[in-house]
Order: sequence, then structure tokens, then C-alpha cells
Amino acid sequence: MNDNIRFDAHCHIFTLKYILKEVKSLLHDIINRTYPWEAPSKQSLQLTSENRIAEIKDFLRQLYELLHSAFSSEEENLIFLQKEEKKEFPDDNLRIIPLMMDVFYMLAYSLDKDQDVTPMVGLKSGLVDEKEFQDSWDDVISDFKVYLNNQKALVSSKKGYVAERKIKLALEAIEEESSVREMFLSKKIRDIRGSNLNGFYRTDGFCYHMDELMALVKNRKDELYPFVAIDPRRPGIIKTLLNGDFFKGEQRFYGVKLYPRMGYHPQCKPMDDVYKYCSDNSIPITYHCGMSGFPPGTKWKHTEFGNPINFEPIVKKYPNLRIDFAHMGSSSDLVWSRTVDRLVRENENVYTDFSCYTSLKDLNPMREFWDSNPKLKTRLMFGTDFDVMYLTDRVTMKEYYENFKHFFADDELFSIMHDNPIRFLGL
Ligand SMILES: [Zn+2]
Repeated sequence: MNDNIRFDAHCHIFTLKYILKEVKSLLHDIINRTYPWEAPSKQSLQLTSENRIAEIKDFLRQLYELLHSAFSSEEENLIFLQKEEKKEFPDDNLRIIPLMMDVFYMLAYSLDKDQDVTPMVGLKSGLVDEKEFQDSWDDVISDFKVYLNNQKALVSSKKGYVAERKIKLALEAIEEESSVREMFLSKKIRDIRGSNLNGFYRTDGFCYHMDELMALVKNRKDELYPFVAIDPRRPGIIKTLLNGDFFKGEQRFYGVKLYPRMGYHPQCKPMDDVYKYCSDNSIPITYHCGMSGFPPGTKWKHTEFGNPINFEPIVKKYPNLRIDFAHMGSSSDLVWSRTVDRLVRENENVYTDFSCYTSLKDLNPMREFWDSNPKLKTRLMFGTDFDVMYLTDRVTMKEYYENFKHFFADDELFSIMHDNPIRFLGL
């Protein structure tokens, strides 16, 4: 492989449009009483939708926190990342590994260790009334607009221009997504045909996100290596993966992204097939491994699902599986980082990345690991976590790169940006 390339092994390319489409889908399923708040077997789906609207509003506000910087298109974000890298390394071109998100099941029932998914059989989707759907959506987005305008009041004194521009673009995106008509019609057709059972359950945001990434793979050949998000609660997604459909042809994915924090234990029953498939087919996995993340904070009810210790039996069972314990298990007490450090020492295919270390204060405690664990020299990867890392507006890309240049020698930086991600991807 060409020496003049570097990798951002952990970033996210998505936009507010994805979020809005996905929340609209969620709202549709709530009104339709097919959203699995709790395991479908509990028959608790008789809940009225009204008392859930507040949760949706809150969910949308939280989602906005994810993308303070995602006011450009997917392609513009890619170009931005490449341009910023070029300023630091003028001779090299940037390749990225964008990790897909799947936030749809964050409010759904959780899957514990050894627990299997409950098939959604017998759940009758009553046809949604378009007016009810539109009224509820109007309610959700008007609340979101109030939130955005409050944000504007809060930030305008500081980074006024950028913040205002982002909010203006956010309001435009809301405008574009303000009608439920298109979704209503497509869902209606789908309900009649029952075609949800073919392939995987296609929510509009998820498919939009996926299609945008695949379009970029086509237009910007060899510049990005996206990973597909797998949540075992999304009907049919694992079956589609096992068919190899995500990894065929020109427009394809190169790995799998897992986010147990969304509500599934890494050792829940359906996941074993995923690990076996990836191990057998040399497909790498990246999973979110930090005490915080999305939703923000360490107190989230599913935080423990992301504990690296939960992956140890998997790593032992599938020693050839290449798996990136992202963020090196970032946690203030370093307990998770120590687990990742040990797993890297003891297993030949365990990787990690230092994405989202936005300051030297955060990076410096990682010194003990980098200095004492020789295996990290071939297993650690560079990542920005763009645009999640932009979330607080704490750091510019220039500062982010400067911190890494300060922390690593040139040849070390080259290893974590070039050799290690190439080995991880299996290129
Ligand atoms: Zn990330």
C-alpha cells in the first residue's frame, strides 16, 4: 500500500438530516405501536403514544448534542477532514474509517447477557393516521426549534458566527423534514406488502445514513472505509450481515461498528453469529469502549455493557477476530483502560484507538500504557472521533493534531496513522 497515506481510524460522517429522519421514523413506530419499548412478549405495547412524546423530544435534543459541527454535507465533512490533515502532513493524503451510527433502539428494551431477541410476530401495525402523525411531528419539531433558539441565545456571545450559522442550517434541515407525507406513504405501502420482513428493518434515517455513505464510497473511491452499525434488535440486520450483503461489490462496508451502550450486552445471544462471521471472513470490528459517549455522561443505565471485560470471552473464543476497543476504554479512573491494555498484551488481534482525546490533559495519563506496553506500538490507531469530538467546541483540528504531535514522535505517529490501521483493516 502507498506510503503517502494516513488514516483517521475512528470518525463519524453523518448529518442532522439523518437524525431528523430517524426520529421521525421512531415517532411513526410509536404511533403505530410497533416500537419495542419493552420486549414484545410482554405485550406492553398498548401504551398510549402521548406519554412517550416527551421522551422523543428529549431524545432529539440529546441527539443534537452529537453534531455541533455536522452542519455540512457528508462529502464536505470528508473534504474538511482531508484538508485539515493536509495542513499537518502536506505530503500525505487522508483516508478515513467512518463508523455508522444506529440510535434507533436506544429507547427500546435492552438485551442482557445470553438473552435473545424477541421476534416481533403477532404485532399488528394499525395503519397510522396521517394527521395524527403530522400533528405529533409538529409538536416534536416545534419543541426542538425552541431548544435551538435557546442555544442561540446561550452561545451568541462566544463563538457567535459559527454557532448562529449552525443553528440556521439546523432550522433549514428541520424545514426540509417538516412533512410526514413521504414517510407516511412509503410506510403505508410497506405495511400492506409486509415487506419489512425482507432484508432488514429499514428505518428512514438509518437507510439515508447508509445510502449517503455508500454514495461517497462510489464517488470518492478508496478514500473511505466505512463500518456498518449492527444492533441485534434491528430485525433482519444480522441475517443480512451473515449473507455477506454488506461486504460485496464496489459499494461496500469494510467492518462492523458496535455500540453496546445503546442497550445490548456484547454477549447477548444473537451477537455470537456476528463474531463468528467476522472472524471467519476477516472483517474487523470496532466497538465503542468508553465510560461516556452517547448519551453523554457516565450514569447512563447501559454504561456497563460497554465494559471491555464483557468482550474478553469473545476475544478468547475468536483469537483471529480483529477488534478495536475504541477510545482505549476512556474513563476517569483508568480501570477500563487497564483492561484494554491487558487485552492488547494477551491477545494478538486486539487493537485500540486514542480517538476523542481532545487535550493533553486527557492524553497524558495514557503515557504509562504507551511507554510500558510494546504491543501497543503495532496495535494503537489514531482517530479523531470527528464530529463527536467537536461536540463541545473545545478543540480545533489543528489543536487536536498538535496534541498528538506533542505526544508521539514522528515515526510513532506514522505507525498509528498508517501501519496499524492498514493491518487492522486487512488491506
Ligand atoms: Zn466514536
